[in-house]
Amino acid sequence: MGYIEASEAVVYGRVVENVRIPYVRDEYYRTIVMPGFSDGHAHPQVIDAGLEPGRVWTNSYHWIEGRSLTIDEASLRSDLELSSRLAGLLYKRALLEGTTLIAVTGRLEANLSAWLKLPMKPRIVLLPTVMHRRGWTTVDDLEPAIRKLEGLVGDGLARLGVFVHSLRYSSREMLVKALRLAKSLRSVLGMHLSEGVRELGDLIRVIGRPPYGARIVGVHCIEDEDLQSARIQCISCPLTNLILYSRTRSDLRGVTGFGSDWPLLLGTVSRHMGVILGVFNRPLYSVLKRATIGGYRTYGLSYTGDMVAYDEGLSRILEGRARPRLVTISWQPAVVEGRLSWSGEDYNSVQRGIREAIVEAVERHGQVSRESLKLTRQIMDVEDLLAIARNLYPRVLA
Ligand SMILES: [Zn+2]
Repeated sequence: MGYIEASEAVVYGRVVENVRIPYVRDEYYRTIVMPGFSDGHAHPQVIDAGLEPGRVWTNSYHWIEGRSLTIDEASLRSDLELSSRLAGLLYKRALLEGTTLIAVTGRLEANLSAWLKLPMKPRIVLLPTVMHRRGWTTVDDLEPAIRKLEGLVGDGLARLGVFVHSLRYSSREMLVKALRLAKSLRSVLGMHLSEGVRELGDLIRVIGRPPYGARIVGVHCIEDEDLQSARIQCISCPLTNLILYSRTRSDLRGVTGFGSDWPLLLGTVSRHMGVILGVFNRPLYSVLKRATIGGYRTYGLSYTGDMVAYDEGLSRILEGRARPRLVTISWQPAVVEGRLSWSGEDYNSVQRGIREAIVEAVERHGQVSRESLKLTRQIMDVEDLLAIARNLYPRVLA
């Protein structure tokens, strides 16, 4: 038995000095983060956001109806092999970025099979999407699959819930059924909520007032609405809000965690820290708590033994620039010396895998010729992220 020592640490959101944690052997790091970063909202199959330079959308419905995608989303989702490969690459990327929990929406079979295949995995919240649109699942389609899996995810590493895409893409009946399913699983009902339009009142008209018997997690919640009295937890995704709508909420009330939304393109929450801190400013503790333990508490997952250790100082971590040397999940090493513990892959090789998978997705499911695409350029580094946020949000990111 030994100790991990570090001169600085973020423990449950608080910055403390000179920590010493029992571990299998003696190791020394400059900074540790405990638990690691939590990414409360991620689409593992989104590799094309349909962005147009300079175009700003008014709300999510405007964006979904008006964007032109180079990849046929329904066709990609039906490609189980590629959808699953994308999810697997995301989990590896998350670990190498120090993100120890990730909540994923999209296709259940793809997201789950990729996770099960990995010898070491981030903690996961599986929130399969239901909606009334071509190529998507309904609650009735989903329920038997979820029932079958219930026992499989009881080890504290995973949680299974349901994600209603949004109020306008679901019926009242679908929402009620989804809540009933989440309640019977004693789990989570997630949804995109108030992403540019006020929707809290409409939601309450359908599901009533708390208690709901399930955790209700709204994603984005840009509008100024009283989420707390409705006991709705918000996962805020500041970066994609800024990219799509050029605005985001800067009030932490009701926000319990952060999401990256399109992590294959933009990286997971740990990489967004510069933008998140720019938007929400201080106190640092309030932001760090939400970025780390916040996601675990939002979804009710254990965080024992989840730790990220760096050779770099806290300021680099807060800018989203640092990459960890050691990552443990439930005290098991998932990243050692900056490489995946079981395969030796490093960050660059996983990024290469993502680029190759995106090119393949364009070939198999593209709606335009490959030559006219600059899709792979959408994989951005932290410098790009900060530049985007600075341009879009100059008031807070001076
Ligand atoms: Zn989303």
